[in-house]
Amino acid sequence: MRLSRLFLLFTGILLSLVLLMAARSVVQDWRLVRSAEAGLAAMQLTNLAMQVAEKASAERGPTIPVLNDRVPPDPARRERLNQARQVTDDAFTRAFEALHADPDSAPTGAAELLDRARLELVRARANVDRVAQLPEIDRTAPGSRLTREPIDQMFAVIDTVFSAVTLLSGAAERAHPDLAMPLVAARYSAELRENAGRLGSQFTSALATQRPLGERERRDIPLLEGRILQLAQLLDVQLKTHRMGEDPRIRAAMLELNTRYFGAGLPFIADMTQRGLSNGNYGLESGGFVARYVPEMRSIVQLRDTTFAVAREGAERAVAEARQRMWINLALAGLILLVELAVLFTIRLWVIRPLLSSTHAIRRVLRGESVRRLPAVRRTDELGDLQRAVAEVQALSEQQQRATQERSALIRELQHASTSDPLTGLANRRAFDERGTHLLAQARRHNWQIALVLFDCDHFKAINDRFGHAVGDAVLTQLAQIALTEFRQSDLLARYGGEEFIALASDLGPESADVMAERVRAAIEQTIFRAPDGLPMRITASFGVAVADAQAIEHVDQLFGTADKALYAAKSGGRNRVVVRAWTPSKKSG
Ligand code: GH3
Ligand code: MG
Ligand code: MG
Repeated sequence: MRLSRLFLLFTGILLSLVLLMAARSVVQDWRLVRSAEAGLAAMQLTNLAMQVAEKASAERGPTIPVLNDRVPPDPARRERLNQARQVTDDAFTRAFEALHADPDSAPTGAAELLDRARLELVRARANVDRVAQLPEIDRTAPGSRLTREPIDQMFAVIDTVFSAVTLLSGAAERAHPDLAMPLVAARYSAELRENAGRLGSQFTSALATQRPLGERERRDIPLLEGRILQLAQLLDVQLKTHRMGEDPRIRAAMLELNTRYFGAGLPFIADMTQRGLSNGNYGLESGGFVARYVPEMRSIVQLRDTTFAVAREGAERAVAEARQRMWINLALAGLILLVELAVLFTIRLWVIRPLLSSTHAIRRVLRGESVRRLPAVRRTDELGDLQRAVAEVQALSEQQQRATQERSALIRELQHASTSDPLTGLANRRAFDERGTHLLAQARRHNWQIALVLFDCDHFKAINDRFGHAVGDAVLTQLAQIALTEFRQSDLLARYGGEEFIALASDLGPESADVMAERVRAAIEQTIFRAPDGLPMRITASFGVAVADAQAIEHVDQLFGTADKALYAAKSGGRNRVVVRAWTPSKKSG
């Protein structure tokens, strides 16, 4: 696998793992936030339901004086009852509003139970109002159960409300188990308040009539006291085993409870019980009893509310912490993601790309292709070394390429020098021999005739003598150019030596050979050469041509004798002319 892909793969795996971890912890924190929020909402509903129980319980206080009222009834007693009823109704309204506003947090059945409690309360109140209008003698007769019945109905209301409380606190505990202990403590406080209220209610009838306690009260008072002490112990244990009990506010509320209710409220009840068991001389009226006992009970509600407040605070802190953790984790995951991307990008830019470009450069060098000069390497790391090495290879290759080019040029030059005449640029004798052999072979293959033409400048010595050797050279060069133009492209032309030239032409018979040589001769004759003094010079040349069937000869040299003789004939015949001779084997001369 290629490094870049491998790296991408590893980065991808690493990234996925990091994101998975982050997602896992974020989801956990999110769940905690949700559960704590749901627990808080359910706890709030529980608190409202407990307040309903508290207010409905407190309503019994002003109900009993109205039930035991004289004729005509005391409007102040009635007014106090109406106010207490209003307070209870308000508590119901608050609880229902909260239940309807947040139906998801309430378990099924809680709203129905509260509704039932309200109906029971309505019925109990109707019964209270009915009994309160009966003749006083019927109500206050010893052993009469008339006033007892509506109060029992009101007790039943509290039991129903507590059923709703049980459902709601169960839901809060399920949503956020950390709330279990505080909720149990709050529940004990609420029950403590209820039982303390019931204990106080035991005296209301006896106080109103200033008679000793009845049979039922004598039985119920110790039971309620026992229940109260039991709840106090449970509450104590609950708060001691939970770190919530260490909260200074809870400690203060517990101290207040012990001082106020258990230190003053319960001893007061014990004193009242003592009096009620003996002569019924209580030393105070119902109003006085309420004024002394009810304030002591407030410490119980105080503890309940403190417990709720501390629990809510704890849950809210858990929510805030989980939220903070969630954001930190998200931010960390984002940061890791960024760093990962930066590493990926850096490695691509600083490692993979230089590797690729170095490979590319070396490949081009190996193929002998031109390579764009890489910019100067300033890096000091290992890849910098690699890039420098590549640049060195590149430089070396360029140097070698240049050397090769120079050598080739030199070889070409040497080749040219060894095969050409330096003065005229025509092929020299050596090149003529070599190429002549090829031309003959070609002509033999095609069964052509070939012609060897020898031509020599007439009276050339005189030119040299008259104008100097340099002018002679210039005339020879010009002569070579004329011949080059007049012979065919396929013909082989060379300087044979001195002022003698030689040409080999194929695919032509004696007549056309004559025509060809005549054309060259005429061109030379017609060309006006200029002497250094500007005066025209007439230059002529004599031509000797030997023609043969190519297949009849084996080497071009064989034609020289005949051509030479023809040239001699042309010279002796008056110069500036062409003499053509056919080559014959009999004439073959060695
Ligand atoms: P002919 O008509 O019989 O050929 O008379 P000619 O003067 O041309 O013949 P000859 O052989 O007597 O003289 C040839 C002269 O050509 C002799 C020599 O100095 C001159 N020559 C040979 N090679 C060169 C050369 O490369 N440059 C110059 N300027 N002269 C050359
Ligand atoms: Mg000559
Ligand atoms: Mg000559």
